[in-house]
Amino acid sequence: MRTCIAAMLAAAALVSAICAAADEASVAVTSHPAGAKIYVNGYFKGRSPHTVVISSATAEPAAYRFTLHLPGFAPWDMQIELAAGQNKAVYATLERLPAAVAGRTICIDPGHPSETSAGTSGPNGVSENHINWLIATQLRDDLQAAGASVVMTKQSENEHVTNRRRAEIANEAGADIMIRLHCDAASGRGYSIYYPDRQGTKYGVTGPDQAVIDGSRAAAGPFYEGMKSVLAGTLPARGIHGDSATYVGSRQGALTGSIFSQVPTLTIEMVVLTNAEDEAFIDSAAGQATMVEALRAGLESYFGSL
Ligand SMILES: [Zn+2]
Repeated sequence: MRTCIAAMLAAAALVSAICAAADEASVAVTSHPAGAKIYVNGYFKGRSPHTVVISSATAEPAAYRFTLHLPGFAPWDMQIELAAGQNKAVYATLERLPAAVAGRTICIDPGHPSETSAGTSGPNGVSENHINWLIATQLRDDLQAAGASVVMTKQSENEHVTNRRRAEIANEAGADIMIRLHCDAASGRGYSIYYPDRQGTKYGVTGPDQAVIDGSRAAAGPFYEGMKSVLAGTLPARGIHGDSATYVGSRQGALTGSIFSQVPTLTIEMVVLTNAEDEAFIDSAAGQATMVEALRAGLESYFGSL
C-alpha cells in the first residue's frame, strides 16, 4: 500500500490521483545482466532494472506472466501472483546461450599485401593494410574467446600472401566460412559485402563450384543483417553485391580468392577509407571495437541461420 502522506500536502486533485494507487501493485525487476526487455502478459514494460507498476490489480490475487528477453541469453519466464497493494521484487539470473560461432572454423583473411595491391589509404594517411590487420586480430581474439577455431591467412601485418594462397589456406583448414576484410576506395560512405555470384577463370582454373556460389550467396544475407544490427545509425549500409560487380570480377568473372575457394566466402569492404569520416571512424579504438562487434554479429547471424 502506498502512502498518501506526501500527496496530502499537495493539491486535492493530486491527492486523489496518487491515492488511486490503492488499486496498484508493483514488481521491482532486476536481472543479471541488466538491460533485458521486460514483458508482462506480452506487453513491453521497460528494461531491467525497472519497477513494473500494475495499475489494475484487484483485491483477489491474479497471475501475471513476466518474461525477460536479452539477445544472446535464454528467455526468462515467471508467473507472479499479485493483488492490489502488493509490492514484490524478483531477481532473474539470465542464462547465456551458446554462441552460434562456437565449434565453427572461421578463416579470417586480412586483405593485402598480395600480388595485386598493397591496399588503399585514407586522405589522412590511414593504411588499409594496417586497419585490415588490426580488425582481423581483434576479431580473431573475440571469436576464439567465444569457442570458435580461427585460421588466419597471414601471420604478420606485412606478410605478402597471394590471393590464390589465401583461398588455399581456408580450403586446407576446411573452414566453414572465409571472410576477407578490406576497406574500399570509392565515393560515399559505409560497408558493403561481395560474394562470388558466378564462376571466373584465373591461371587456367575455373571456379568456384556452384555449391560455393550458393553457399556464399546464402551467407551474404544473414551476415549483412547481423552487421546492420550493430552498425545501423553509425555507418551506412552499401548493399550486397556479386564479385562480378568489382573491377577484377568484371574481367575474370569472380575475384581471384573466390575462384580458388572451396568454402563459402565473403569479401567485406568495412568502410570507404578514401572518405575522411569513414577513415576517422575506423582509425579510432571505438570504431574498431564496433566493427569487430558488427563482424561477430554477422557471423552469429550466419551460423544461426543454418
Ligand atoms: Zn583491399
